Amino acid sequence: MSSVYNFNAGPAALPKPALEAAEKELLNFNQTGMSVMELSHRSSDYDQVHQHAKQLLKTLLDIPDTHDILFIQGGASLQFSMLAYNFLPKNKVGQYVLTGSWSEKALKEASIIGQTNIAASAKESHYSTIPDPSEIMFTDQDAYVHITSNNTIYGTQWKAFPQIHHAPLIADMSSDILSRKIDVSSFGLIYAGAQKNLGPSGVTVAIIDKKLINEADTEKVPTMLRYSTFSQNDSLYNTPPTFSIYLLGKVLEWVESIGGVESIAAVNAEKAALLYDTIDQSDGFYKGHAETKSRSLMNVTFTLPNEELSQSFLRLAKERGFVGLNGHRSIGGCRASIYNAVPLDACAALRELMIEFKQSH
Ligand code: PMP
Repeated sequence: MSSVYNFNAGPAALPKPALEAAEKELLNFNQTGMSVMELSHRSSDYDQVHQHAKQLLKTLLDIPDTHDILFIQGGASLQFSMLAYNFLPKNKVGQYVLTGSWSEKALKEASIIGQTNIAASAKESHYSTIPDPSEIMFTDQDAYVHITSNNTIYGTQWKAFPQIHHAPLIADMSSDILSRKIDVSSFGLIYAGAQKNLGPSGVTVAIIDKKLINEADTEKVPTMLRYSTFSQNDSLYNTPPTFSIYLLGKVLEWVESIGGVESIAAVNAEKAALLYDTIDQSDGFYKGHAETKSRSLMNVTFTLPNEELSQSFLRLAKERGFVGLNGHRSIGGCRASIYNAVPLDACAALRELMIEFKQSH
């Protein structure tokens, strides 16, 4: 197959212009006679790549000077424990708002390191909702409050973030970073694995308040698990994932070229509406997992009347060149991940397929 409609949940579709730009200079980067993968991470050619990616991210997300941008390895999953190693001292509590499997995992890791608490949970609704900010319980002992901005598996998303003033707000934004405008200054830490909206897997972006780094007591924390190590060395204490950071830069150039985050957000809303309208107008044939007000604009999760029909729909989709529409193994059904790089026409084609399938069944 020469091209497909890629609805993978992550690693996911990358913007074609970013891949084409990388292809063009794959064998000879910037007249160095080498690929970017073969450069020393201490060379000035690589340094330009590194600074370029940071600068573009800073501009696109409007990241204030109070915050540092770090490139870390180990995925978002390592952040679950790294943030607790740095910001969860013995006498304090890490507060977690549970909105799905990834927040459960974040809580589990932090619980290995220190005291934690569930500030609010949407588990009873089978993670079909986002708790109302008024339901979130805090204590005087809170070290931080952790949320998952978009729930990749269940297909829910925070529309407005809780206003937290007594402790830093930490957000796992792995599956919706750069999909909409956010006020970075209201977060102590934002982290995201790159492999959905930012680029290929291999690099995790952390956007972190420098004050938090400076106040953390990390004497007993291994060097590579301290945010200060990354901050003081511009994420070059050891070898960074150079190719992933290079391609991140190419993806960010593409975002900039199409008008930045505001333009992306408008297209994302249009894409999601195509699919949610199809679900809503299907007389119950397609059922969305998420409650309407908590619907994710990144992961559209739905079921068909029974498992047999779901499987038959997925088979037809596969034949027609749609990739990655199976729901996560933990909830089944279907999921269309429609990150930034998934074009509007792919969503329009999926809508047509859903309508056609419903009419013939
Ligand atoms: N958090 C969220 C919201 C995710 O969607 C994922 C991956 N799908 C993770 C964390 C884990 O990311 P990683 O594989 O980079 O550790």
